[in-house]
Amino acid sequence: MVQPKKHLGQHFLTDKNIARKIVSSLSPGTRNLLEIGPGTGVLTGILLAENLWKLKVIEIDAESIAYLKVAYPEISDSIITGNFLKFKLEDIFQDNFSVIGNFPYNISSQILFKVLNYRNQVDEVVGMFQKEVAERIASPPGNKKYGILSVLVQAFYNIEYLFTVSEGVFYPPPRVKSAVIRLKRNEVKKLDCKENLFFAIVKTGFNQRRKTLRNSLKQFQFSKDEIITDLLSKRAEQLSVGDFIILANDVKKPETASKK
Ligand code: SAH
Repeated sequence: MVQPKKHLGQHFLTDKNIARKIVSSLSPGTRNLLEIGPGTGVLTGILLAENLWKLKVIEIDAESIAYLKVAYPEISDSIITGNFLKFKLEDIFQDNFSVIGNFPYNISSQILFKVLNYRNQVDEVVGMFQKEVAERIASPPGNKKYGILSVLVQAFYNIEYLFTVSEGVFYPPPRVKSAVIRLKRNEVKKLDCKENLFFAIVKTGFNQRRKTLRNSLKQFQFSKDEIITDLLSKRAEQLSVGDFIILANDVKKPETASKK
C-alpha cells in the first residue's frame, strides 16, 4: 500500500463502482487519454481492462509510481513521472486528447487553467473535484458560486455536473464532498473578440466581485452605448460569457492601471 501524502492531495478512491462510473462517463470515440494522478491505480486498472484508449498517466509521487509498475505492469511504459502543471502537453500527445482523473484537490483550479491554455488540444475532461469547485465550474450566471473559472471554462467547454460522491469512499476521507463533472469542448474555436481582453476583463471584473463593473473595470475605457451602460451597472457575477464578449468588443484601449 502507498502511505497517503497530504501535500500531494492523496485521497485514494476505494469504491470500484464509482471508479467504473467515472470511466464510463468518457464520451464514446475518445482515443488519446491522459490520466492525471493515477495514485494506486483504481481508475487506471479499469481503463486498462477496458482497453479502449491510448492511455498515458502522469503522476508526481515516486511511491505511487513504484506501486503502479508492480500492480499494472502493462502501464509501465506509459507512465510520465512529474508535475502535470509543469509539463508541455504537446510532448505527451501530439494530437488531441481527453483528460480523466480523480484530481489532487489542492491544484484542481490550476489543472483547469492549464487545460484552458491547451483548449485546442483537450477535447474532454472527466474528473472528480471537490464538490464546491465542481459546482463553481458548472454554475450559471447570477449565482454566488459563479466566478472567473466558471466564465473562462464555460467559454470553451460545455459542462455537465454528473454525480456527487461522499467522503467515505476515499482513503483517507477528505473533509469535503466530491463531485464528478464532464467538460466537453464546444464549437467555439476562437471567441468573437480579442481573447486577451476577454480574459483580462473577466479577471479584473471578478477581483472586486461586489462592486459594479463600472467601478471594478475603471482601467478600461468603454463607450456610452446603452447596452454597455446597462452591463456596467451590473456585477461580474451577473454577466454571461456573451456579455463579457460584448464588453471586450467595446473597449477602446486598455489603459495601464494607475499606480495609486
Ligand atoms: N486516482 C487515484 C489517486 C487520487 S489522489 C485514486 O482515485 O485513487 C490524487 C493523485 O494525484 C495522487 O496520486 C497524487 O500523488 C497525484 N498528484 C498530486 N499532484 C500532482 C501533480 N502536480 N501532477 C501529477 N500528479 C499529481
